[in-house]
Amino acid sequence: LDTPIHDAVLGEAAGFGDTVALIDGTNGMSLTYAQLDGFHRRIAAALAEAGLRKGDVLALHSPNTIAYPAVFYGATRAGASVTTVHPLATPEEFAKQLADSGAKWIVTVSPLLATARRAAELTGGVQEIYVCDQAEGHTSVLDMLSSTAPEPEVAIDPGEDVAALPYSSGTTGTPKGVMLTHRSIATNLEQLRPFIPMGEGDRILAVLPFFHIYGLTALMNVPLRCGSTVVVLPRFDLAQFLEAIQTHRISGLYVAPPIVLALAKHPLVGEYDLSSLQYIVSAAAPLDAELAAACSARLGVPPVRQAYGMTELSPGTHVVPLSVEQPPPGTVGKLLPNTEMRIVSLEDPAKDAEPGADGEILIRGPQVMKGYLGRADATAAMIDEDGWVHTGDVGRVDEDGWLYVVDRVKELIKYKGYQVAPAELEALLLTHEEVADAAVIGVYDAEGNEIPKAFLVRGPGPAADGLTEDDVMAYVAERVSPYKKVRQAEFIEAVPRAASGKILRRELRDREKTERTDET
Ligand code: ATP
Ligand code: MG
Repeated sequence: LDTPIHDAVLGEAAGFGDTVALIDGTNGMSLTYAQLDGFHRRIAAALAEAGLRKGDVLALHSPNTIAYPAVFYGATRAGASVTTVHPLATPEEFAKQLADSGAKWIVTVSPLLATARRAAELTGGVQEIYVCDQAEGHTSVLDMLSSTAPEPEVAIDPGEDVAALPYSSGTTGTPKGVMLTHRSIATNLEQLRPFIPMGEGDRILAVLPFFHIYGLTALMNVPLRCGSTVVVLPRFDLAQFLEAIQTHRISGLYVAPPIVLALAKHPLVGEYDLSSLQYIVSAAAPLDAELAAACSARLGVPPVRQAYGMTELSPGTHVVPLSVEQPPPGTVGKLLPNTEMRIVSLEDPAKDAEPGADGEILIRGPQVMKGYLGRADATAAMIDEDGWVHTGDVGRVDEDGWLYVVDRVKELIKYKGYQVAPAELEALLLTHEEVADAAVIGVYDAEGNEIPKAFLVRGPGPAADGLTEDDVMAYVAERVSPYKKVRQAEFIEAVPRAASGKILRRELRDREKTERTDET
């Protein structure tokens, strides 16, 4: 296990030789494993020659491309910590990440160059901006491939040295730089290995972004270490996504709940041949059991499996093994080996919750992050003295050890002393035929009570045109205990979501605030 991440993932790449490692789903360009192996070594050599030293931070600012893994592992081989950047970040957001991480090097793509330049100007401290393709005045990663510099010999200490510095999604606050060592990432890959049997011949579709830990792990590290073929898409576009599954005969999908929703409901899905699909995994946000069942029934695949994790946990702690044919509906999986979990009381975190009862999920294991970069207090708030990570998620475990995630502790709505999980209401709202998407937050009524409010997106069919807020609230009221009723509703154009598929409830709350101030 004491292998740096580039060796843990690409150790066997040379041996996979002419097997195709990566295909660009937009133009068919591809890279073999032999090329990936050689290219990342040349990139490491060129970066070292340019002056990159062990411990330097390199910002990788790119949508998914076939070059992404070569740059990522090339940089770590040269000794860098890679901080992955959202390709849609504004110059200001990017500048914050550059300043916070202390990045000296940027690798971007020509369409994003202006943003990268502006961000570098705003921070200072960036030594060089490279592009993966071509842009005047900038060295291209393509030029690095013909570098004659010697491959750098960097002594990496896997347990100490930071391989990846992803930023958490920022769902609950400002994104924080998460220090993941070579060892924590490599260990997590090892923990996942028995449960996600991937190998040569498997074809994976990388539609979720590599910059987020879920995409980085499930769509890059896991498949590339086992010789699978990864088809890369730069963003989620339903038609392009379905087309790619059909054309490339994709065998496994790793997606987030909004894509499961589209697969279950969207009329376009019926127009494609998706018969190559053998399994679907969903993670990153709560997935409703009924929606999951509707998706697998429609596509004729085994039940959609979930996994659970977070950036701070490299990221995995639970998966539903592909070998379990009928996992209980709604579970996010069983605990990975060498990982411990406690469910503690929401009222008194010093106490374990009653068996089977809801509580906060605590995790301990070798995949725990080294800490948040430059934020000792945030780190101490997250990881207690005994090494337990306080996930901030509410869950429960059944008698057989299956974990169910209810929602985040902070998102729970307290309606007159009762706790209402927005995720449960959202799931129910999505079962309504004419509701295309939904999000729920707690708002305050005139008496100052916190109540659930639903934001709804109308479905595409003509039947949805006449749908009113009251219809939808009545639909929910018929199906839940009275304290869980949705008490306010509003139609909106689209639910704001992070790239990883998570609902940005924060944005809905801001919207709510502005509307309230407008009224007064
Ligand atoms: P931030 O920490 O910056 O607020 P974030 O928590 O959304 O952002 P991530 O690390 O990307 O950042 O996400 C981890 C979170 O995603 C978990 O804490 C959990 O709330 C949620 N999550 C992950 N997998 C699942 C799942 N299968 N079901 C429900 N929620 C999940
Ligand atoms: Mg988090």
